[in-house]
Amino acid sequence: MIEKIDRLLADTRREYPETGVTLGEPMSRHTTFKIGGPVSALVEPKSIGAFVWLLRELNAREIPYFLLGNGSNLLVSDGGHEAVALSTARLDTLRFSGDSVICGAGVTLSRVAAGARDQGLTGMEFAHGIPGSVGGAVYMNAGAYGGEMRDIVESVTFVDTRGQIRVLPGEECGFGYRTSVFQKGGAILSVILRLRPGDPRKIRETMEDLSARRREKQPLNYPSAGSTFKRPEGGYASKLIDEAGLKGLRVGDAQVSEKHAGFIVNLGNATFSDVYTLMSQVTERVYERFGVRLEPEVKIVL
Ligand SMILES: Cc1cc2nc3c(=O)[nH]c(=O)nc-3n(C[C@H](O)[C@H](O)[C@H](O)COP(=O)(O)OP(=O)(O)OC[C@H]3O[C@@H](n4cnc5c(N)ncnc54)[C@H](O)[C@@H]3O)c2cc1C
Repeated sequence: MIEKIDRLLADTRREYPETGVTLGEPMSRHTTFKIGGPVSALVEPKSIGAFVWLLRELNAREIPYFLLGNGSNLLVSDGGHEAVALSTARLDTLRFSGDSVICGAGVTLSRVAAGARDQGLTGMEFAHGIPGSVGGAVYMNAGAYGGEMRDIVESVTFVDTRGQIRVLPGEECGFGYRTSVFQKGGAILSVILRLRPGDPRKIRETMEDLSARRREKQPLNYPSAGSTFKRPEGGYASKLIDEAGLKGLRVGDAQVSEKHAGFIVNLGNATFSDVYTLMSQVTERVYERFGVRLEPEVKIVL
């Protein structure tokens, strides 16, 4: 596999010399959990052309890879990964045109939200404090405080599992609670968002209010991947975890946050196995107590 990856990297340097390539890069540097072992190569294409070419080559050459947005919903295992992490970080073009926003998949939600605020456009306030990229947020149908990506996605340009570039209107993206059609396959290249004209002062106030609520409720001083578990039907994971008496439960340096039971935090040197074991313990104990099987919201890369 190493030889195959080396050949691909050599070809990449020749075809798209501006592509960022970092060998043996630890994923702990690219995840908000600060957990994850080294990949054979972190590859950061600078253009959609290079990104699509790489995707097609990875598939054609049968090289294992995973897509990396901002790493804010990922739990990556500690061992070495004979794989390529294909990052969207440099697909970061952002353009406002009337009520529309044209975003590269790698643009951060906070940058789009700040731009929308400055343009007097409303609709992105909910996303201001979500630390993801636009691509990762569409993939997850990220949401908060009554808003979600489904509400604002006009269309998505992506590469399907056969390597074809396609455009899907928002209504056909299969959005549901923390899910989208892209979880069945495909790589998001760019997204058009549709916002509405709004009162800049009100937009700013709403964003500040939501940020304050996050700071008050969430353990933002520790690395995490946000909510560890999805909301079960008819309830909140954090409430069940709290009522099962699991706040503060610890495995190694992974802990169920004392501030917000829905978050598992890294107290400093948590390993993949610490977090994974703690997630299993929480799942079992909530099931024993309430008969509800929690499902992870974080995406696991083994
Ligand atoms: C402190 C904190 C608070 C958070 N608050 C919220 C919140 O309020 N609401 C919420 O919904 N989430 C929240 N999250 C979780 C996370 O920010 C979101 O799920 C976000 O949308 C993930 O985006 P990302 O770019 O970081 O994706 P990543 O973590 O990099 O990837 C997540 C998944 O998306 C896939 N992916 C990424 N980019 C693409 C692409 N271009 N095409 C196809 N697949 C892709 C990856 O392969 C992976 O499977 C929070 C996280 C943290 C750390």
